[in-house]
Amino acid sequence: MEVTQALLRVGHKFRPGQAIVPTSVTVHNTGNPRSTAANERAWLDNRVNLDSGNFVSWHYVVDETSIIQAIPDLEMAYHAGDREGNATSIGVEVCEVGNQHVVWRRAVLLVVSLLRRHGLGADHVRSHRDWTGKNCPRLILPEWPRFLRDVRLEMGEEPMFTGVRIALSDEARDFPGLVSAGRVFVPVRLLLEQLGYAVSWEESTATVAIAREVMVPQAVPERWTHRG
Ligand SMILES: [Zn+2]
Repeated sequence: MEVTQALLRVGHKFRPGQAIVPTSVTVHNTGNPRSTAANERAWLDNRVNLDSGNFVSWHYVVDETSIIQAIPDLEMAYHAGDREGNATSIGVEVCEVGNQHVVWRRAVLLVVSLLRRHGLGADHVRSHRDWTGKNCPRLILPEWPRFLRDVRLEMGEEPMFTGVRIALSDEARDFPGLVSAGRVFVPVRLLLEQLGYAVSWEESTATVAIAREVMVPQAVPERWTHRG
């Protein structure tokens, strides 16, 4: 993903120059339905905002077409509204303008690239709300679990359930399956029975028993006692 660096100058009111070791990535929405990434970056240099009593900044802002970085990853930004959040977390502002499906996807990819860069897992994603209770990121929060799931999927931490087509000689069959960490998993019983094996499961030893003969069904007794 292409990131445009437009760092606040050293000594800028919104760039405190405090070193941080990021242990999370915090997701925000800009709170402005018309503001692009470039607009957000310009906001940080707007005299009116600089002269206000507020301290507001972020590390990255992402919209439909661009990503802009305003503060280096290893420096504090004023985004979390919380001392610990600011001192430990990289702030990502997600724009509310444009196709939100596209913006969502780009936000996921940006968050994943930051997690990877700093050696963090998907469980190190925070919402602004996690720090202060603020309704932010306001557009994403209603679907926050899906956002986290998308991050886990992209990180390879979430198995991807899918149909797996296996061609047995000339006969193809679709199996329920999943792809995880580059490996394909399908139910062993379904696959082997398709190949003409009989499969049983021995619970006590966690063993899949495979017999070459096709099993002959036996009559099930009316009553049986449980031993164990
Ligand atoms: Zn926020």
